[in-house]
Amino acid sequence: MKTIFEKSNGADGINLTDEPCVLPFIEKNFLREGSIGLPQINELEVMRHYKELSDRNFCIEKGFYPLGSCTMKYNPKVNELLANLEGFVNLHPLFDDESSQGALELMYNLQELLKKITGMDAVSLQPSAGAHGELTGMMIIKKYFEGTNRNKVIIPDSAHGTNPASAKMCGFDIVEIKSNEKGQVDLEALKSVLDDNVAAIMMTNPNTLGIFEENVLEISKLMHDNGSLLYYDGANFNAIMGYTNPKLMGFDVVHLNLHKTMATPHGGGGPGAGPVCVVDKLKSFLPAPVIDFDGQKYFRNYNIKNSIGAVKGFYGNFGVLVKAYAYILMMGKNLKMASENAVLNANYLKEKLKNVLELPYDVPCMHEFVLSAEKLKHEKNISTLNIAKSLMDDNTHPPTVYFPLIVHEAIMIEPTESETKEKLDEFVNIMSKIVNETDTQKILSAPHTTPVKRVDETFAARHPNLCEKL
Ligand SMILES: *Cc1c(COP(=O)(O)O)cnc(C)c1O
Repeated sequence: MKTIFEKSNGADGINLTDEPCVLPFIEKNFLREGSIGLPQINELEVMRHYKELSDRNFCIEKGFYPLGSCTMKYNPKVNELLANLEGFVNLHPLFDDESSQGALELMYNLQELLKKITGMDAVSLQPSAGAHGELTGMMIIKKYFEGTNRNKVIIPDSAHGTNPASAKMCGFDIVEIKSNEKGQVDLEALKSVLDDNVAAIMMTNPNTLGIFEENVLEISKLMHDNGSLLYYDGANFNAIMGYTNPKLMGFDVVHLNLHKTMATPHGGGGPGAGPVCVVDKLKSFLPAPVIDFDGQKYFRNYNIKNSIGAVKGFYGNFGVLVKAYAYILMMGKNLKMASENAVLNANYLKEKLKNVLELPYDVPCMHEFVLSAEKLKHEKNISTLNIAKSLMDDNTHPPTVYFPLIVHEAIMIEPTESETKEKLDEFVNIMSKIVNETDTQKILSAPHTTPVKRVDETFAARHPNLCEKL
């Protein structure tokens, strides 16, 4: 497909500087001379170009999207409508508190709801993604331990890759600990690395294998007895929402991914929100300002004693916060049902698919589970990558592959709460068809029906130049 620049055919558009109504308002020294090389093409061709590009894209509205850990669920469109209300869209962040009472009230109420959902005592809505929330949380822990020798952070080998990256960016040394045969944190391994230099452990529960850490209370006791803190990666909150919370499990800092759990379509780098929630003793370290209420007025409170400072221009991605607020209010008590369905759907698929591929950890899962194609690779030379590519021929987005690293030929499947039983059964049939395909060559050269066929991913990763002609 040609780029819009290659399609440029010299078609004339409007030259704004020729317009008598525009020119007088632009001062001469601001006028550019000559062309800046924008494509010249008529409006209909522009529309066709971008429509074709969007048709090539895959989205939840097109088909099943079981991308593990990413929660690619359906997000009701009414939330978009609400976030686009004129009063929200046209509100400038430099307006004073007095003129922004509605927006501040919404943010304050959202903070209160997130406190209830996580069990925590205080919230910052500033971070704009999950990884950004992690960084913020770890900066808080760093500042809390300022002046001590606590420079180590323990991270299980099943952790999301952003965890060690965030801790490292804050200047911590990472200590990795192994999972046991149940796919959970190995208590003996944990005890063996605990010492006076440990600031915190970063974990998620359920972990990235989709397994609930049954020793979490013992882990939090061990950490607190050691004078250390516990960080909870709450990116996949649809696994536990309404049933339990990180406070009950003994955690001190949590981030949420509102764009995963609370109704903002994501992927492709769109705006997100990764609020950080903390226990009382860390409240004075939150990024300033937090949104407060004095009984009469809502206001931006900059008076945060030990604040790590601001982590985002202004106060967070406001549109995402509006969507999250609308979603939580709309769901009400049914938030619990979202988790119930996410877990039910995952367990249903797991039970069906363990007859198709191997299930390395055969225990009840939470919102997701991890299969392995190791046997298939041995027997037919068909790898996880080939299965992923073949799924695209059946209008299905590939699951997360080769993650977590502790499972060979891993396929990580998260069906989410928004899918029907029919859709899950259809997916099982597609997976069986691929695994049992006798024409191995067909699987090895998939996909066949997509606009772009098999790409050389290693080359693409090593030469990230989209314009290069091969
Ligand atoms: C998605 C995810 C993250 C990162 O969130 P981003 O918003 O992509 O930065 C971190 N941890 C876990 C477990 C996740 O699933």
